Amino acid sequence: MDIILLGPPGAGKGTQAERLVTNRGMVQLSTGDMLRAAVAEGSAVGREAKAVMDSGALVSDAIVSALIGENLDRIETRGAIFDGFPRTLPQAEALDLLLAERGRKLAHVIELEVDEEALVERIGGRFSCGTCGAPYHDRFKLPKVDDQCDVCGGHAFRRRDDDNEQTVRRRLAEYHAKTQPILPFYAERGILRPVDGMASVETVAAAIDSILDG
Ligand code: AMP
Repeated sequence: MDIILLGPPGAGKGTQAERLVTNRGMVQLSTGDMLRAAVAEGSAVGREAKAVMDSGALVSDAIVSALIGENLDRIETRGAIFDGFPRTLPQAEALDLLLAERGRKLAHVIELEVDEEALVERIGGRFSCGTCGAPYHDRFKLPKVDDQCDVCGGHAFRRRDDDNEQTVRRRLAEYHAKTQPILPFYAERGILRPVDGMASVETVAAAIDSILDG
């Protein structure tokens, strides 16, 4: 079963995706993670993407669609969770094509609805394990043992360069201008499932579970 997690930055897409990976053996395909890996490697794509990402603007449709295509081939029959992709109508159309070519089809588009001021606070406090990527937050989710990752026991943590207020506001503006217009595309198809993203992580997770099992 392939699904999209849709919502503005900080809505909780990565947190919910991580849970679905652990509990259901699905595969998270995050274009943000792929781009950050490309930046870290210093590849041509990474060099092109870095400045765009730091500004909070969107990387080109061609680059992110190609990244998704490459990674889709690796996951075989496991269900995909598209996280942070698609973000524009051309990307949504590209995804339809990429899936159809592989005999796959979207089952659900889960839209995490959130209050925007809360997002700035959520994003400002977040950090993750430098080893396994497990997500944390200064206020909402600190590691159980100080300075030690709950998941892998790692001791190195990192914060994203683009998680500052100015860039977050730009990312939100991009979401409104370019990503929200794809909601009707999926609503018309009858696969858009809005979920209250302001509820607790567990409540959101339960809502997603009932959609996937329903
Ligand atoms: P994310 O980790 O999903 O918040 O993405 C971080 C940044 O990577 C975004 O602000 C964009 O600059 C870029 N990015 C990630 N996914 C996409 C996408 N599907 N289309 C365009 N740019 C993207």
